Amino acid sequence: KNVQELERPETVSENPSTAGSRILVFVRLRPMAKKEKEAGSRCCVRIVNRRDLYLTEFANENDYLRLKRLRGRHFTFDASFADNATQQEVYSTTTVELVEAVLQGRNGSVFCYGATGAGKTYTMLGTIENPGVMVLAIKDLFTKIRQRSSDGNHSVHLSYLEVYNETVRDLLSPGRPLVLREDKQGIVAAGLTQYRAYSTDEVMAMLQQGNQNRTTEPTRANETSSRSHAILQVVVEYRVKDAAMNVVNRVGKLSLIDLAGSERALATDQRTLRSLEGANINRSLLALSSCINALVEGKKHIPYRNSKLTQLLKDSLGGACNTVMIANISPSNLSFGETQNTLHWADRAKEIRTKAREANEELEQAPESEADRAKLLLELQKEN
Ligand code: ADP
Ligand code: MG
Repeated sequence: KNVQELERPETVSENPSTAGSRILVFVRLRPMAKKEKEAGSRCCVRIVNRRDLYLTEFANENDYLRLKRLRGRHFTFDASFADNATQQEVYSTTTVELVEAVLQGRNGSVFCYGATGAGKTYTMLGTIENPGVMVLAIKDLFTKIRQRSSDGNHSVHLSYLEVYNETVRDLLSPGRPLVLREDKQGIVAAGLTQYRAYSTDEVMAMLQQGNQNRTTEPTRANETSSRSHAILQVVVEYRVKDAAMNVVNRVGKLSLIDLAGSERALATDQRTLRSLEGANINRSLLALSSCINALVEGKKHIPYRNSKLTQLLKDSLGGACNTVMIANISPSNLSFGETQNTLHWADRAKEIRTKAREANEELEQAPESEADRAKLLLELQKEN
């Protein structure tokens, strides 16, 4: 009975404030689409309370009538959102604490996973009328910063990029592909636009525009690509005075990720692999699933280097980071296979433990004398 104790990851410490934390996993069910209704879909997902979800497959009408009282396969998540959950509800449950942590100089990441059409972009970006997690997080960030404006000096920088076909592109300033390189903060895309943001309004418009810049499938001319991964990074820098009046520089990073449709990873057959594009999109999502597997199994080597996506997500998966996964699913039995696959990965992701780390905090200057201290305060006030 001590097995479980032995298997506890090394990073788990007794001190709750420094203990590694697990990935929080949420599922969001979207409403049945008109097309699905017209095709005679039945709902195969049932959420019975705020956590538990049942998936039931009905092969035909008779099975449906016979089995409808059976509950189907059971899953439980940190929260399961029914199809009437609001954007604000999803934001408040999944991301609000990460925004707080980012202000404390920690890293956080939220990623949406699921098949094409399951509601990832709706959850992340949303619409003008119903803005999603990306916009609500930035709005909240600005509110919290305003409340603390007397404590120090903040700056917020945004970058928005796409990984498509193993190529990284700047969505805010489309142009040539970007090269990834490693610096002391981790993997960065060289030359990526860092846009200094001052208010929420400009950000919404900018993100909508950025989303338009996502690569469009040649075969689905009017649809944003189901093969592109979009990553919004929000870097918050905070210069504050601590209790001893030292000036401290805190940097927190929030990554919000709208992953490509997971059905591409499902359809792994030889024919798909022969097409370069297919192979590459599979590479990123398959690399993501290998990393998740390796993390779950507590492997020493995590194969981040296998794709651009996993390189960029390295500190969002295994690093010192609060990580949230939102699995998006359709209610229709026509998407049963995709939903089952998505729930399988969501269930597996619950086992991931991220490493603990202190906040990204650096003592910038330690004032020697009262005079130095006064000078620094004056400088900080000027910056404000
Ligand atoms: P994905 O990005 O996963 O391919 P989308 O976010 O584009 O899927 O969603 C597909 C369609 O369903 C869109 O028209 C979107 O507006 C709609 N939709 C998705 N989720 C919801 C939701 N929770 N409520 C209302 N409409 C939604
Ligand atoms: Mg999308």
